[in-house]
Amino acid sequence: MDLIKKTEDVRQKAYDLGFDACGFARARRLEQEERRLEEWLNQGRHGNMLWMENHFDKRVDPTKLVPGAKSVVSVLASYNHPDHQEHTRLEEVPKISKYAQSRDYHKVFKKKLYKLFKYTREIVGKVQGRVFVDSAPVLDKAWAVQAGIGWIGKNSMLLNKRLGSYFFIGEMIVDTEFRYNEVTTDHCGSCTRCIEACPTNAIYEPYRVDATKCISYFTIELKEEMPDEYKKQVGEWMFGCDICQEVCPWNRDAPYGSIEDLHPREELQNHDMEYWEELDLKEYNRITEGTPVRRAKYEKFRDNVDAVIENLKSEGD
Ligand code: SF4
Ligand code: SF4
Repeated sequence: MDLIKKTEDVRQKAYDLGFDACGFARARRLEQEERRLEEWLNQGRHGNMLWMENHFDKRVDPTKLVPGAKSVVSVLASYNHPDHQEHTRLEEVPKISKYAQSRDYHKVFKKKLYKLFKYTREIVGKVQGRVFVDSAPVLDKAWAVQAGIGWIGKNSMLLNKRLGSYFFIGEMIVDTEFRYNEVTTDHCGSCTRCIEACPTNAIYEPYRVDATKCISYFTIELKEEMPDEYKKQVGEWMFGCDICQEVCPWNRDAPYGSIEDLHPREELQNHDMEYWEELDLKEYNRITEGTPVRRAKYEKFRDNVDAVIENLKSEGD
């Protein structure tokens, strides 16, 4: 089959499935990323996320992950929504990171990626491959850069000129070739808004985030009880943190996402402090069912909520 037609057909199918961007890169070892990741891990910037050390070789080389792999097809789907804008504007209310306010994106994405894989098989014939959503050792942001659909910003998030950074990333790694995109160039320029806005100085130098200083780490990954100094730093964030994305100019006019399953749930944007103060296990189970917030068990989430309420009350004094 003609390489250009095959590429365009798969791209079109990705759009038909609701993805907002789709790019193609040649599967190979990412040597520059390998060095960066090694250094970051050696410095212990990943804290207790020891799983990040696993499968290092596969992580930097998709041909080790999927034997015979020739291409990495990267896709993005926006979760930007008008209700988020409203939520962002409100100060001094308990907040959950935007990405976690909807149905678990892993499920939504996987289903769509399988459909894209099935379609690729239909038009190409015998194709072997796998699909990934945050679930295996794939350097998803680096691959999206290689596939020409974004650059990694100074806040270490993937940014796309049209979409901003409120999107999820997925990949399909397959043993068939496509017409490959040009690597995306950096469009952060002289901007340093994210670095200045980060309340914990987790962005220790442009393009480098120390996960162990990030609010997302404190409120999601940290297994032990939050030390007091972290509790103060989380501010109003009960789960995750969006500050370095909220200040990013590329998110200002980003379009809204069209996949309904990725729209926020009203309950997770509740602004009533008393409601969160009284949240018990039953209610937690009800409002977080099928969402990424479940990653934090009730006890952890409760601990986060208590820290936020304490912070908001002391701000109001
Ligand atoms: S998510 Fe929040 S704490 Fe983490 S780097 Fe961004 S602004 Fe800083
Ligand atoms: S806030 Fe500025 S420096 Fe940070 S990611 Fe956005 S454009 Fe880049």
